[in-house]
Amino acid sequence: YRIDFIPLEKIPVWSPSGDSSCKPQYKVDEELNKKISLFSGDITKLEIDAIANAGESRMDGAIHRGAGPLLRKECATLNGCETGEAKITGAYGLPAKYVIHTVGPIVHGSVGEREEQALRNCYYNCLHTATKNHLRTVAFPCISTGVYGYPPDQAVKVALRTVREYLEQNHEKLDRVIFCVFLKSDKELYETMLSAYFPQG
Ligand code: ADP
Repeated sequence: YRIDFIPLEKIPVWSPSGDSSCKPQYKVDEELNKKISLFSGDITKLEIDAIANAGESRMDGAIHRGAGPLLRKECATLNGCETGEAKITGAYGLPAKYVIHTVGPIVHGSVGEREEQALRNCYYNCLHTATKNHLRTVAFPCISTGVYGYPPDQAVKVALRTVREYLEQNHEKLDRVIFCVFLKSDKELYETMLSAYFPQG
């Protein structure tokens, strides 16, 4: 592989660093914990089965730059993507095998029930699309927390809860779910919150 591609072996399983001020809300499940990673950096570099793409965003630009024009061509055949839906395409020039496209909710003002459900659907439908296609390693960016304005401290809870619940139900279908954080503030947020949603014994 190219030197700047990051294979799964180079993405460590998550383990807590330092103190967490967050109380565990879920029981300790070492088998689940082994399937979780926190990766800080560019999602387009990950050499895994599938990366989720928050469509029509800055990240979307990075994905298309890496994938090349054939991805736009395939996306044009998808017949759009509704908020909360997920659609899979090839990844072309990217090291990942597939891109799972989703569209997060736009938040104006405070988060309502509808926006929360939509964000939950994004994570759930991406995971469901992955497992339906027998894909075992998936990475997520912080969907909706960029230009779409979802408060990151609320979005992280939806992301972690949805993934936790999905893994509890579909343990055998996935090997790794990678939370890909781009901003230092998101890294800190995820480090704290992972201790609550995936507590270590
Ligand atoms: P949205 O429209 O869903 O808000 P954005 O792309 O604006 O999407 O932002 C979503 C998150 O993705 C933000 O936290 C942003 O910092 C992050 N991000 C931007 N570029 C990348 C990248 N190349 N890899 C991973 N995350 C990224």
